[in-house]
Amino acid sequence: MTERFTGSFTQQEPIPEAGIEAAVAVLRHGRLHRYNTVAGEVAETALLEEEFAAYVGAKYCLALASGGAAMACALRALQVKPGELVLSNAFTLAPVPGAIASLGAKPLFVDVTEDLTIDLDDLERKAARSFARVLLLSHMRGHVCDMERLMALCDELELRVIEDCAHTMGAKWRGVPSGRHGAIGCYSTQTYKHMNSGEGGFLVTDDAELAARAVLLSGSYMLYARHRAAPSPEVFDRLKLDVPNVSSRMDNLRAAILRPQIAMLDDRRARWRVLYHAMEAGLAGVPGVRLIPRPQHEDYVGSSFQFLLPGWEAERVAAFVAAVAARGVELKWFGAADPQGFTSRYAHWRYAEPVALPATDRVLAGLIDMRLPLTFTPEDVALIARIIAEELVRVAGAERLAPVAVAAAD
Ligand SMILES: *Cc1c(COP(=O)(O)O)cnc(C)c1O
Repeated sequence: MTERFTGSFTQQEPIPEAGIEAAVAVLRHGRLHRYNTVAGEVAETALLEEEFAAYVGAKYCLALASGGAAMACALRALQVKPGELVLSNAFTLAPVPGAIASLGAKPLFVDVTEDLTIDLDDLERKAARSFARVLLLSHMRGHVCDMERLMALCDELELRVIEDCAHTMGAKWRGVPSGRHGAIGCYSTQTYKHMNSGEGGFLVTDDAELAARAVLLSGSYMLYARHRAAPSPEVFDRLKLDVPNVSSRMDNLRAAILRPQIAMLDDRRARWRVLYHAMEAGLAGVPGVRLIPRPQHEDYVGSSFQFLLPGWEAERVAAFVAAVAARGVELKWFGAADPQGFTSRYAHWRYAEPVALPATDRVLAGLIDMRLPLTFTPEDVALIARIIAEELVRVAGAERLAPVAVAAAD
């Protein structure tokens, strides 16, 4: 019998009851804007910032309208100028180069390794050659590079680091929460990430001036004293007339939905790891597949799974993706000629300087990616792995393959 998977790769868990109740309370009183408070009231957004700062051990935290808004705010806080080159990962998703482009700055892409982390040798070469001041480092799909080596290199090169932790919220490197190595850490609370408020994001830092600039940039008017995870008013006094308002605040409704989810992050990481290990076990030893090694120091959140089909020609990868799709398994392929759904790659971002990155192309040509939502059970994952393994063997062994169109699905 041919097995089929009938679950959804995009179905997240519901909002916890405590979040629903808190959200309804905000709706009932109607003060959704973060600065709309009555005497003695502390806004949900200010409390959320205080609680998230405590969770990652940061001095300052600002909640924003999206993860992309957080990255753009971080770049503005570091005073990146139009035309300036900003180093970033060639393997990431569109909001990352988009945040750079939103300032009129230019992404300078750094190669990805076979372990799906930034190539530190290429980073060193490009940093030396470009005089870039800032690295927007994306921990893409939750793969964290050697952070000690990266930070030592960036200190030596005088590069400020902004971490894109959209896929590493709740993860750690040698016990240090992701987002706490660089000058600024950015997170997303969009539905597909590790906390869900539909849209939303955070920025954290220990630098008082960067934090004050970020709060002013987010659109605080002269109400910054109502923040709790922000520097003291003197820091703002020096800056408040020089920093523009680039409105991108979070509101109290989203903050109410998010607050109870912070305490769930560690348990979610543990549950995601169970799913991740089930997939790893199911694909171990399948011929033609390279699984991604996970370093011992990386306490990762396995909310998605990647593997490589090294040396596979494009027709064969397309035939494999189509064959598993016909059995209900939705895989993304980063080597597809055209962007599909969320899966685009650096060559598709034409607003950036066109570059040739053959090493990255080689990795992405065989890179397969899938979501593992927490609505999956380990049995679901085992079934998905069986389907993938069967089709890999079948397609790898097929003599000749007609080109197939891969259905765009998200
Ligand atoms: C989702 C995501 C972001 C932020 O996205 P928003 O939708 O703006 O919250 C940033 N980087 C990566 C790699 C992402 O996947």
